[in-house]
Amino acid sequence: QHFQWQRGASLLFAPDMINYTTEKLALMAELRQAIDEDQLVLFVQPQMAMRNRQVLAAEVLIRWRHPKRGLLAPEAFLALAEEMGVIYPLSLWVLEQAIKTIASLTEQQLVSRIAVNISSKDLLQDELIEALEQLFEKYQVKPQLLMLEVSENALLAEPERTMAMMQRLHRLGVELALDDFGTGFSSLAYLRKLPVQYVKVDCSFISELHKTEAHMAITGAIIDMARNLGLGVIAEGVEGAEVEDKLLRMGCARGQGFWYSQPFELSGFPAWLKQWQHRHPG
Ligand code: C2E
Ligand code: MG
Ligand code: MG
Ligand code: MG
Repeated sequence: QHFQWQRGASLLFAPDMINYTTEKLALMAELRQAIDEDQLVLFVQPQMAMRNRQVLAAEVLIRWRHPKRGLLAPEAFLALAEEMGVIYPLSLWVLEQAIKTIASLTEQQLVSRIAVNISSKDLLQDELIEALEQLFEKYQVKPQLLMLEVSENALLAEPERTMAMMQRLHRLGVELALDDFGTGFSSLAYLRKLPVQYVKVDCSFISELHKTEAHMAITGAIIDMARNLGLGVIAEGVEGAEVEDKLLRMGCARGQGFWYSQPFELSGFPAWLKQWQHRHPG
């Protein structure tokens, strides 16, 4: 977060601010080092057809294996990476690892899409399209096997440019999902204009769905709306059988969450998928 010195601001706040900046500066330096020293690692979490436990896709989730603080969640450093202007190269690295994984799955005759979260800043980079084309060419991967997850909130700052980039990605052939759906302000009319094939209902509505009437109502409305627009729905944050059951009854077929699997290292995904398919033969 940015802060400004305000005239008349109480000096009492100064020590805090100084600590905050020092800590932030330190973290920035550490993040630079982390990138150089390969401390960033990719995890993955499968997305299931809930009825028969077939794996439809797997979402890549970044982590920072910090030498002192342990495994850090993306929330602890992605905003910082954006501020430092390193999010785009970072995203390209994630995309390359994802596309490489798709190539290796295809080679082993394992079928699964890979989903990658893309930052709002990435969608303002015109070079993204060409970079993706080059990666698909390099690894001989079909764009249809990549899904990009764009947070609903990514559309807030520059809706026109963001939407134009999403159109270009759609024409390239990649699948698009609107992530964190329900947390922003997208209207139905707006959603209709977006070239997305899926909406992902945010964790905050799903994980306690069975206990909260309002969450049931909101999720139900999203499912109905998506169906009327011909979109798929993915529920994220499925943590138990009751939620799964409720979702299936409401007409939501796809789910992701701890109930099926915790996120685990991307490098282990092909072997995991082979085993899973052996145990859940459809
Ligand atoms: P997201 O895309 O909405 O990802 C879903 C988050 O929910 C993940 O958190 C996942 O670990 C967590 N989750 C999975 N199953 C459950 C469950 O059953 N219950 C609950 N309560 N949570 C569950 P994570 O890995 O900490 O990622 C947080 C966010 O960071 C992601 O939200 C995404 O927006 C962003 N992110 C992660 N990786 C990347 C990346 O490579 N690039 C970019 N730009 N953003 C990323
Ligand atoms: Mg996501
Ligand atoms: Mg989400
Ligand atoms: Mg989220």
